[in-house]
Amino acid sequence: MNSSEHSADSGDARSGSGGRIPLSGGVHGPAALRELVELTLTALEVGAERRGGPIPAGEPEQLARQFEGVFRYGRDLGDKPDEDALLRLTELLAYGSADPADPSCAAHLHGPPLAVAVAADLAVSALNPSLDSWDQAPAATVMETALVAELAELVGFHPGQAAGVLTSGGTESNLMGLMLARDRILGREVELDGLPAGVRPRILASEAAHFSVQRAAALLGLGERAVHAVPVDRELRMDPERLAAALALSAREGARPIAVVATAGTTDTGAIDPLHRIADLAAEYGAWLHVDAAYGGGALFSDRLAPLLDGIARADSVSLDWHKLGWQPTAAGVFLVRRAHTYASLARRAAYLNPADDEQAGYPSLLGLSLRTTRRADAFKIAVTLRTLGRAGLGRLVDICHDLARSAAEAVRVRPALELHCEPVLTTVVFRYLPSSATDPAAAATPSATPAADPAAVDRLNAELRRVLLREGRAVVGRTELPGAGAGRVRLKLTLLNPNTSAADIAALLDTVVRAGKALEDAEAVS
Ligand SMILES: *Cc1c(COP(=O)(O)O)cnc(C)c1O
Repeated sequence: MNSSEHSADSGDARSGSGGRIPLSGGVHGPAALRELVELTLTALEVGAERRGGPIPAGEPEQLARQFEGVFRYGRDLGDKPDEDALLRLTELLAYGSADPADPSCAAHLHGPPLAVAVAADLAVSALNPSLDSWDQAPAATVMETALVAELAELVGFHPGQAAGVLTSGGTESNLMGLMLARDRILGREVELDGLPAGVRPRILASEAAHFSVQRAAALLGLGERAVHAVPVDRELRMDPERLAAALALSAREGARPIAVVATAGTTDTGAIDPLHRIADLAAEYGAWLHVDAAYGGGALFSDRLAPLLDGIARADSVSLDWHKLGWQPTAAGVFLVRRAHTYASLARRAAYLNPADDEQAGYPSLLGLSLRTTRRADAFKIAVTLRTLGRAGLGRLVDICHDLARSAAEAVRVRPALELHCEPVLTTVVFRYLPSSATDPAAAATPSATPAADPAAVDRLNAELRRVLLREGRAVVGRTELPGAGAGRVRLKLTLLNPNTSAADIAALLDTVVRAGKALEDAEAVS
């Protein structure tokens, strides 16, 4: 108990038992929370029921209008306290959410969290440990350290030699990997003096790599143009011959290849770059190997799919995201390095957080492992989930979603109005709607004669089709563009992360896509 809880002063803002302001911690916290959590759960039910689908129907402004009267722009915030704010706003939040627990919500690497993980996260919110110093998070510090060792083992690193930290996600993990690469290859003076004159750093990543690689290069003072985009094959796997050529070119141009980024599960197709071949090339040129497994890391849980990530243990650093293929509420990112000593340049000492004498006395603080200072105990929900389901239990969920993707691909193939881009690798199916002029054999003989078969028109049709489904609140389907240039690259995608979705749900969703496409075509033909 802190001294303010003993204070005799009880202002009129105080409520709850004994006139005290209800807080979430301590012995009395759970009682204060219980009633509010019950209320919140009721509001979640009511809101979801009112939505009645994967996303609220209507235009974005219609949703914005429902919040009018709740927010009081320009008015005194204290003019009218709203006792029901939690209930009303939770209901609105639930109503207005894109809910990945609905089988028709399958656009992004945005999964439905497991109930047990969310319950664990509630405990974290209530206790509010902060991982920047031991004295703000004794148990959470121990648990994160142990979880990182377990995950290092899962990746194939030697747990005694590896190190890592929980992050906000792949974006932060990729930034950290490239930061350590920069400091390792160019020297730690970069931290003090910036880039030495005349050095031309280069990062090699495939053209299907995540955009956060470019952003990290910009933040690290390397410049986005330091990132060389290596071409990919149809599945969006990096072409290792093109990587070899790009590295040879770097050497000829006097550029310094500081890192090769391999993607283990591209955001769009789930493609996995050839890790061993890339590791050989990175080693040959003395570059750091960062493996971005933000999506594909989940395959490590599955006996069937884990071999796809063979070679990941050769990485210098790895990004994993359990808020993607791991059924955790956001955020649940993990950054790992194979050799703890390469972590050195992140270490920071702050007199008020991790004084050296405390550490020597056996009080470890995790401050020096993260770019952040205050940091939630995101490790806890992951640790609880892993213990509840086990690796095999999570692997089964991965396999279910992988099977679902394969059956979805088959369902795309048997619908003449749809075109499959490639076989699913993990849990994503990439396809597009083809207008009847492109699928009708008579019209196909003279494709250029019909405007609908024009690649730009097919792109527009697919993009509009997706918005129609959003507006109608019927489905949340992904939309992307394949790498390259020119028209004809727009694709739709289903990112299947819901283990309760059935093959019949997906078949119905694809029928909805086809119907929406035909309706748009008919409307165009009339206008
Ligand atoms: C999602 C994703 C990221 C970004 O991760 P966040 O958790 O959104 O920051 C990076 N790389 C890949 C391959 C991804 O799929």
